Amino acid sequence: MDERLLQVKTPAFVIDQEKLLNNLLILKEVQDDTGCRILLAQKCFSTYSLYELMGKYLAGTTASGIYEAKLGSIMGKENHVFSPAYKDEDMDELLKICDHIVFNSFSQWIHFKEKCLKAKMSRSIEFGLRINPECSTQEGHAIYDPCSPFSRMGITLKEFEKGVASYGLHGIDGLHFHTLCEQNADDLEITLNAVFDKFGKYLKEMKWLNIGGGHHITRKDYNISLLKKCIKMAQDDYGLNVILEPGEAVALDAGYMVSTVLDIVHNGIDIAIMDTSAACHMPDIIEMPYTPQIFGGRIADKDDFNNISFDSGNIESQKSHDQYLYRLAGPTCLAGDVIGDYILNSPLNVGDKVIFKDMAIYTMVKTNTFNGMPLPDIVNMTKDGPKTIRKFNYEDFKNRL
Ligand SMILES: *Cc1c(COP(=O)(O)O)cnc(C)c1O
Repeated sequence: MDERLLQVKTPAFVIDQEKLLNNLLILKEVQDDTGCRILLAQKCFSTYSLYELMGKYLAGTTASGIYEAKLGSIMGKENHVFSPAYKDEDMDELLKICDHIVFNSFSQWIHFKEKCLKAKMSRSIEFGLRINPECSTQEGHAIYDPCSPFSRMGITLKEFEKGVASYGLHGIDGLHFHTLCEQNADDLEITLNAVFDKFGKYLKEMKWLNIGGGHHITRKDYNISLLKKCIKMAQDDYGLNVILEPGEAVALDAGYMVSTVLDIVHNGIDIAIMDTSAACHMPDIIEMPYTPQIFGGRIADKDDFNNISFDSGNIESQKSHDQYLYRLAGPTCLAGDVIGDYILNSPLNVGDKVIFKDMAIYTMVKTNTFNGMPLPDIVNMTKDGPKTIRKFNYEDFKNRL
């Protein structure tokens, strides 16, 4: 662990710039070797003070709507957008700042088509449709599966055929799919084959294929050579330019949440109340759900609770000497504001710091001020030490209400 993490005022998100750079180098190599373009999915990580650095390695950004598209302009590279549905007033602005606009239905495309083709006469801009390959490759995270039954994400083959029959594909430059979440290249290969089987005929008429995000490219066990093979297949067999838009892979493991123990209470086990909240600062812990890794300990499993007796309503932990079982929890009023149960290497005291790992992704973009919780500072850990990027105060809470 980098001892300098202990210097920051808590709670704080600390970005590990060196690790971010390592990820960017991996992604750059995939681009250089295959000729694909890789965009940052801003919904995962939008800390724009690092966009200049990221823009040296990535082709640009993708956005989920008007605000992210505006933020993407800060990188000053390719600016793509996809939204399940656009508003008329936003489209006028998107047509001025975006390079690719992807629609989720023929009805949205037809609604905006005239405006889009008009915009194309004065600047270079391309349009795409998101397809639903109806090929689920993920179990466990149903809320992150755009191929789940009755999903609103993307056009199914049946609807696509109806759309083509009614309107044709004039003005559409590419297709887009996004179906993966934290997955390896074997699932991409399965999905890609489903896409080719179902939509191959239409892909032959397209310039590009955007294969979305969810590719865990920078994870140690990721099969990069299979990813490259998949990209080459789309390029060689269908003559497509391939675009990827990962979020997680860009900033995977490239940040921490540094927090301080405020109090320790006891109810069967020791419970440390931290100055950070799962509900407010790391909501994916509850939403996904998952338990973050920490320095100086491990996540507790069922067996760790075996030596706790629950008889006669009296819950008591019989701690063995080297096992320090703690529940780490937030300071909000939500009973379920629990970060996780851990076995620590040493006992905790009030004032101690706890550092949660892999906290750059889907964190800063998802914070909220429920209970009037202060927002964590954002700090960039550079080679020269910690540099505070953003501090928040009472006004940030008040201004949202
Ligand atoms: C969420 C999302 C991404 C990024 O996904 P990651 O899992 O963070 O890689 C890319 N494209 C679209 C359309 C998305 O919804």
